[in-house]
Order: sequence, then C-alpha cells, then structure tokens
Amino acid sequence: MLFLGIDIGGTKRVVVVGDHTGRPLEQIRKPMEDSGNWRADLACLVEDGRALLAKWETETGETLARVGVSVPGPADTKRGVLLNPPNLKNWHNAPVGAALQAAFEVEVRVENDANAAALAEHEFGAGRGAQNMVYLTMSTGIGAGIISDGELLRGAFGAAGEVGHMPIESPGESCRCGLTGCLEAYVGGNAWRTRLQACTPESSSVFERASGDREAIRPEHLVAAAKEGDAFACGEFDRWLDYLARGLVPVIMLLEPDRIVLGTIATAAGESLCFAPLRERVAGRLWPHQRERLSIVPAMLGDDLPARAGLAVAAVGAPMLSSAPSAVRAN
Ligand SMILES: [Zn+2]
Repeated sequence: MLFLGIDIGGTKRVVVVGDHTGRPLEQIRKPMEDSGNWRADLACLVEDGRALLAKWETETGETLARVGVSVPGPADTKRGVLLNPPNLKNWHNAPVGAALQAAFEVEVRVENDANAAALAEHEFGAGRGAQNMVYLTMSTGIGAGIISDGELLRGAFGAAGEVGHMPIESPGESCRCGLTGCLEAYVGGNAWRTRLQACTPESSSVFERASGDREAIRPEHLVAAAKEGDAFACGEFDRWLDYLARGLVPVIMLLEPDRIVLGTIATAAGESLCFAPLRERVAGRLWPHQRERLSIVPAMLGDDLPARAGLAVAAVGAPMLSSAPSAVRAN
C-alpha cells in the first residue's frame, strides 16, 4: 500500500509518495505556479503524482491506497473545497478533493495546513505518543491544530482549533482576520514584524542586524539579538512570551493537553530564551496537577513538514496504521 501526499502552499507545492507507514519515499517540490486557472495548476500536481506512483508502484509492487492533501485555510475540509485562501486567489472555491478523487480513483482526504501539520507532528514528530496535543506555529499568522483523545479535533465544519484568533486583549490590536485583540495580533510573525519595524530603537542591535533598514526588520533579527542579551530585544521577547502564555493557559484549561508543540519562532528561539521561561510563566497560571502532566516542546519536523503533512493526512486512520502503531513510529 502506498500513500500520496500533496501540500498546496501559497508559494510552494510538494507532491510525495510514501510507504504504508507514511514514510516518504520520494518527493517533488516546486514553486507554486499561478497560471490563473486552478484546474491547470492542479493538473501539474496530478502529473507529478502520477510520475512518482508509476515509479514506486513498479519498484514496490504495491498500489495507491489514499491521497492526503494539505491546503491553505480557510477550507471546507469535510467537502474537500478551498474557500478563499488569501495567497491563492485563483483557487477560491476550488473542489480539490473531488478533482483529485476523479484523477487518482482512490479516497482523498483534505485538511487545512495547520491541522495537517498537527497530524504530521503527532504521527512523525514532537507529538508522538501524546493522546492530547496542541500544535501551534507562529510563522506569519498562527496555525494551530488539536489532537484530542488521539484524534484530530475538527469541529462542525472542519476548522476547529483557531487558537490564534482567541481574544487575549479587549479591545486590543486589530488582527488581519478582521477581529481585534486576537493572540495572532500579538505573537504572529507578521503582526510582530510590523510592531518591531515601528518601535525598534536605532540603538538596538536589532536595527544593525537588519542592516540599518527599518523596513527590513524581522522577528528573526530580534530573536538573534535577544540571544546575545540586547536589552530592547530581551524586553520585546519577554512581552511576546507573556502574550503567548496568556494564549496557552485558556487552551490548557479547556482541552487538558499532555503536550503542547510549538514551531517556527519558538523553535528558532530555543530552550533557554523561549521554552524554559515559557514553561515557568504558564506553570504560574496553572494548578499543580496540571503543571506536572504538561510538557511544552519544540516542533521537530522543520523542513520535512510539507512532505510529512500530506502523508499524515493520507495515512492517519488507515487500517494498517491503527493495527501496527509501532511501525508508524519506527522512522
Ligand atoms: Zn484574528
């Protein structure tokens, strides 16, 4: 049995063939072409998928069991339809699930990118073994996915887990989603970049790291400066940690996760700058039994995530995986 994973991103796309455990065998990564017609763009993905399958079906003697797709939100994943992803204007309302099902003639599962990433970290990365896991990534906005009792929490329309848009200030900063006071407006990469470009003093080494160009300042400059003890950067990072902790506590109270997996900015900042002080800050707002049972850890998949995301969507719940979970975790 083979799985095909497809990751449709705003700038990149990945098509990957994986074995029965979800382990990637070979992948094709390309920039996301935007021909103005989603059907033409999808046909290119299908062509790559067919080429990979032709090779690996011959090599292994096995056949395609299922296709898993990670798509940018918002999406109606239960119907396999993209809604209005801001970075893929020509894909609005594209029924990718049905189109791929017609092309490959097997079951196709579609998840939004945050939920697909959560599944991938849960199956193959930092969430392995956790029954109740919350995944958060803060690259541009905040992507989040929730595993509850071993299953992805989908909600009524497949988009549960929008942790980034929980209000943490009232009325608070404007969020790009149209609401105000959202967690993303304080700790999301884009929102933080805008703030840093406005408030970084020229005396800070953050400014220097951006070659003296205010418009070029990015959160990674701040993280690097904070690691070296720059006073402004440390203060800003502390503020960011405080908002992140404020966002995590209600999630913990609501869902009782045993593991929280944090990607991008948190992973880049690392243990001593981010995770150790964050654990302390979160613990100070929890009951003792909650503190003892919770671990907050960095994401593990990094550059492998796009290949793993589609495969995790395809593989999770397959009969062979549920009967032999150790095989999933062997790689
Ligand atoms: Zn928002």
